[in-house]
Amino acid sequence: AKAGGRNRCRFFEPEMAFATRERMALETSLRPALARGEFTLHYQPRIDLRSMAIVGMEALIRWNHPERGMVWPAQFIPIAEETGLIAPIGRWVLHEACMQTRRLMTEFGREICVSVNVSARQLAHGSFVDEVRQTLDESGMPPHCLELELTESALIADIERTALMLRELHQLGVKLAVDDFGTGYSGLTYLRRFPIDVLKLDRSFMLQDGAGISTFDFVKAFVDMAHALKLAVVAEGVETADVVAFLRAAACDEAQGYHFARPLTLAALRERLAADASS
Ligand code: C2E
Ligand code: CA
Ligand code: CA
Ligand code: CA
Repeated sequence: AKAGGRNRCRFFEPEMAFATRERMALETSLRPALARGEFTLHYQPRIDLRSMAIVGMEALIRWNHPERGMVWPAQFIPIAEETGLIAPIGRWVLHEACMQTRRLMTEFGREICVSVNVSARQLAHGSFVDEVRQTLDESGMPPHCLELELTESALIADIERTALMLRELHQLGVKLAVDDFGTGYSGLTYLRRFPIDVLKLDRSFMLQDGAGISTFDFVKAFVDMAHALKLAVVAEGVETADVVAFLRAAACDEAQGYHFARPLTLAALRERLAADASS
């Protein structure tokens, strides 16, 4: 049928209404989810590219919805951010990740680092530094074993305030990482303003060659620059042995991705750490 203006409108409206209803339904069930214990953390191992051992992992939230089953963070984190629910959810993630990791460290008798995603809205919250300090106290987590992952957009929101907060966090001894590095358009100046320790190279970098410089040359130049600035580089979304080989050749520090492990339940992570220790 010919899509005239009016027809298009008529098809468009119900779709919009559906999306809005969907979103509202999710929002309604998101509110009590924390109190009902519907969230869990999965952990994706991070591998040191020299020793090839697991040095830490990234905590990734999962929502076990009572009717829908598992809901991915891409579906509910934006809603949590818009509604402000990200504050209590983020606090829970930080606490849970530190408690569970601290326990793993005792079990395995070695240091294990955990990375936690922090959204812009959480960072903007006045009490964030206190929350981190308190969580470190309660969990007994060594500060240098906790890394906070911030996106470029979170960093450039309010440069003066952010710089102050990041300095406070850094003084606590926690590590600061820029997540999805290379996907934003903010340039590199914030690297001079903020005490960043780690750059997480977005997985789009791992994809095939573009028209100009080869992926290898690009990543190599990037790693060299980061190292000159005393930053460690973690490659994300590593899916193949070929990519592992070129990352090692480029002297990239660490990697995570499906090639090594998908995000794992705590039980599966434990097995993986045990297997790693005995090999
Ligand atoms: P992210 O921080 O960039 O996390 C990496 C995402 O890539 C994860 O998706 C992970 O499962 C996926 N991934 C890992 N390795 C591979 C790979 O080799 N190939 C491909 N194709 N994907 C891979 P996930 O768990 O669905 O999380 C999506 C996003 O949701 C995260 O992106 C992060 O921005 C956000 N998120 C997750 N957990 C939290 C949280 O606790 N707090 C906040 N604020 N955001 C979170
Ligand atoms: Ca992340
Ligand atoms: Ca990322
Ligand atoms: Ca991301």
